[in-house]
Amino acid sequence: MRVENLAELAANATIDADLVIVGGGPAGLTIAREFIGSPIQVLVLESGQLTETPRATDLNTVESIGEPKGEAEIRRRIEWHGAGSSSWSQQAQPYGVRCRVLGGSSHAWAGKVAAFDSTDFAKRDWIPYSGWPFTLESLTPFIDRAAVTLNLGPNCYDSEFWSLLGLKTPPAGPDPQLLRSFFWQIARSRLDSGDIMRFGPEFVTLDAPNVRVLVTATVTSIDTNAEGSAFDGLEVSTIDGVRSRVRAKAAVLAASAIENPRLLLASTKTHSLGLGNAHDLVGRFLMDHLGTKVGAYKAADCPEIGKRFGFYSIRHQGQAHIYMHGMTPSRELQERESLNNCALYMLEEWAPDDPWGAIRRLAGRNSDKPLSDMLAVASSPGLLLKGVAMRAFESNVLPESFKRSVVNAVINQFPNFAVREFRTRSLPHKLKSIAVEGIAEQRPNPDSRITLSDKKDALGMPIARVDWRGDHDARRSLARLGQHLQTESIRIDIPAPQLDDWVIEERHDDGIFIDSAHTAGTTRMSDDPRQGVVDQNCRVHGVAGLYVAGASVFPTSGHANPTLMILALATRLADRIKLDLGRQIDVASHADAAGN
Ligand SMILES: Cc1cc2nc3c(=O)[nH]c(=O)nc-3n(C[C@H](O)[C@H](O)[C@H](O)COP(=O)(O)OP(=O)(O)OC[C@H]3O[C@@H](n4cnc5c(N)ncnc54)[C@H](O)[C@@H]3O)c2cc1C
Repeated sequence: MRVENLAELAANATIDADLVIVGGGPAGLTIAREFIGSPIQVLVLESGQLTETPRATDLNTVESIGEPKGEAEIRRRIEWHGAGSSSWSQQAQPYGVRCRVLGGSSHAWAGKVAAFDSTDFAKRDWIPYSGWPFTLESLTPFIDRAAVTLNLGPNCYDSEFWSLLGLKTPPAGPDPQLLRSFFWQIARSRLDSGDIMRFGPEFVTLDAPNVRVLVTATVTSIDTNAEGSAFDGLEVSTIDGVRSRVRAKAAVLAASAIENPRLLLASTKTHSLGLGNAHDLVGRFLMDHLGTKVGAYKAADCPEIGKRFGFYSIRHQGQAHIYMHGMTPSRELQERESLNNCALYMLEEWAPDDPWGAIRRLAGRNSDKPLSDMLAVASSPGLLLKGVAMRAFESNVLPESFKRSVVNAVINQFPNFAVREFRTRSLPHKLKSIAVEGIAEQRPNPDSRITLSDKKDALGMPIARVDWRGDHDARRSLARLGQHLQTESIRIDIPAPQLDDWVIEERHDDGIFIDSAHTAGTTRMSDDPRQGVVDQNCRVHGVAGLYVAGASVFPTSGHANPTLMILALATRLADRIKLDLGRQIDVASHADAAGN
């Protein structure tokens, strides 16, 4: 793969390609991958480099004038997002979590994926602005192709999974008229058996003579013809502000659901309100998944709950695949109680005297209680010994093929243990309880939006001003799901979670809800230009040759983590662009043949 640094090319260059892709995250790289071996010359422009740098990360800074803004929410964000991404800071990203690096946010993601269900595509009377222009069935072939890209096992996310697992009788569960089993998969790396999929490192190993990747290449403007009706080119800048121009027949914006609208709004040469914004829709309908804790299981119940709701593995085409079990409200319950789609999943909580936490605090000289931290370390030699052994396993002494076969065997035999190893990078931890975590769809709301700030980034571009409006119904939906899980657990005689007070007392506004690094909706899809920025083929209304990829096109966002659906849509878009560009190339060659 040709990866070049824009800063090393001549200044003020003009770079030509057939198709230019803005952003080298999962969406952009999936589209580029689909063109490998085709006659179309593809150029990927990535703002970051092969590893994260502070200067590139600064370009992700946003101004937030909406939620989350309470002290408790900010604490939870720092705990949650700070643990997820080392480059993230609350100060620079008071809303959202993104990485500026080749591979985008897959640099920090958790690799948890699932497909939306058919309800998510339907027009639901109780969810305003719901309904996609196509059905789940029409997207299924692309979800299957996306699963191959993500190195997944079979696309099975509902109770069919039990038969895939080979169980004749699934474990007795709640009334399916109320609650349904839901499964997520973990996307595993092809390069490192102990890691999850990272798009950047995987992509650079591909052999792709017709694809060129330019890093430190930040797009600052999208240009059109004089009428503003067709894509013409892009302005791209190094981190030091040295500009070049890119000319191409078509462009895909794949820069994330914050940057896609930011770029469209900032491109005002032919349309003063920005491109694709004739109906003031760009940046509106900003959505995220609302995440919160709903309750917890007592330590004594952890083994049984770990078995039921923990991780399962199946072997498929020579590889062990990890699935995780949670609960969603049935379609009937959603309709009856006007609920948003949402899910509960179980997350191990580690004890305060977890020896590895204590070591980290002691080493960082930020221990509040050094004596008890030292005691925690001294009293867990077994756990620490295991940590040392696992670190040795991570070293380069053992060949990757050997490690992969051992990891596959461990996943098959002990999926819960294996996932704990993925999450902790092999450091063993002491379990305190199992938290019941919730994730909910947010209702589309035109007032929840991204506009441009008066503040500018290092390249002179206005930063995004984010006014994220939470959603009372998302809070209510998760509380109801928690209540149903508790009553159904008692009815079928399995351990029931202890619900948090805000859930029991239905004080929905007191729950501590945060954004989940799953921004969506800001260039929403509709075939009616007065309802959406892109049409069902992800083409920007009114600007020929300009397409959008990523969750910004989602009209609604389900509860499932978005990346599998982002990839399904990106794969579908690649097919579409091949058709559109093929037609253009045909017309041009006919014109040449006719001597025009
Ligand atoms: C900590 C964390 C955990 C997550 N966990 C999960 C999970 O478990 N499951 C899941 O499905 N999703 C998860 N996500 C979300 C997931 O990472 C995103 O859905 C996915 O990365 C989106 O892909 P994308 O290509 O649309 O955008 P991004 O990954 O944001 O990639 C956009 C790319 O565009 C580049 N770019 C931005 N602006 C410009 C510009 N002007 N010019 C050129 N390049 C530009 C960026 O540098 C970046 O490389 C997580 C995210 C984070 C941060």
